[in-house]
Amino acid sequence: MKRLTIAIDGPAGAGKSTVAKTVASLLNYIYIDTGAMYRAIAWEARKKNLDSRDETALTAVARTIQIELKNGGEGLIIFANGQDVTQPIRSPEVTAFVASVAKVPGVRKALLGLQRQMAVSGGVVMDGRDIGTTVLPRADVKIFLTATVEERASRRHKELLTKGYSVELATLKQEIEERDRLDSERDCAPLIQATDAILVDTSDLTIEQVVQDILTICRRKG
Ligand code: C5P
Repeated sequence: MKRLTIAIDGPAGAGKSTVAKTVASLLNYIYIDTGAMYRAIAWEARKKNLDSRDETALTAVARTIQIELKNGGEGLIIFANGQDVTQPIRSPEVTAFVASVAKVPGVRKALLGLQRQMAVSGGVVMDGRDIGTTVLPRADVKIFLTATVEERASRRHKELLTKGYSVELATLKQEIEERDRLDSERDCAPLIQATDAILVDTSDLTIEQVVQDILTICRRKG
């Protein structure tokens, strides 16, 4: 079967990373979590106490930071300038800050070339917000994953609890809505379903069902 390029986009908490990771592992493809790349920049910017409106400084961070995604046994390990930031980039503080960083055009431009380069040989599953529209507009398979905001908040809540963070469900719902708003309303590469993407509502589906649906779509393309 041809080694495909698979783009999975959608709002926060729709299940993109779990689904993308599983599909990549079953197909023996590389999984690229572009959200983690934006999070690494947001983490570095917070460390430097940068203001979310300081576009010049944020762009400079994005241009100079060394981001590496390495496959670990449990999933991707994310390095920023050589430091393992896999855990800290998922903190509520970075999560609350990342969408303001990701809306800066210079930040997006700095990551675009890198993301395209990572996908150049095919055999990749890349997840994010703008993969099917901007990063890989010619991807072989484009999926737009969504779910109700209640379901997404509840999933994030469970995930954070297992990681030891205690956040109110209502607060999480508000944060997810705010992040969706910032991601959808920004001028540069907003969160939007590509016209040729297949919409999958995961609200009432298990991970296995979503994965099987995507594998069926891939088989048709391969
Ligand atoms: O996927 P995740 O929730 O980790 O993404 C964190 C944030 O990174 C998103 O809310 C969004 O602001 C930004 N992002 C983006 N474009 C992508 C991936 C993520 O703007 N392709």
